[in-house]
Amino acid sequence: MSSFVCQRCGACCRWPGSVLLEKADIAAAAAALGMPEGAFIETHAVLARNRAQLTLKEAPGGACEFLDAEGRCRIYAARPRQCRDFPHGWKVDGCPGFSLH
Ligand code: SF4
Repeated sequence: MSSFVCQRCGACCRWPGSVLLEKADIAAAAAALGMPEGAFIETHAVLARNRAQLTLKEAPGGACEFLDAEGRCRIYAARPRQCRDFPHGWKVDGCPGFSLH
């Protein structure tokens, strides 16, 4: 049996892949950054590979652009639902938060 305890390493925020945005995610993140939703979308979102949703932009190398130099999320209190749900629904290979018991 495995259990999960977040090690706060930020590894999941460095993995390439989509952080899909729901409408409420955009509203919350835009408010946290003090910007209109349209400006948030223009600045921080791109069309996802499924061409049906928006996803957060990635920094060069594939990390999330909201991951700061210390490995912390710059919008942690307003992070998207996909991030709040981690590890549910994520591919977690290499995550040090899982231990086998
Ligand atoms: S929004 Fe925050 S928690 Fe979500 S991937 Fe980006 S840095 Fe990580």
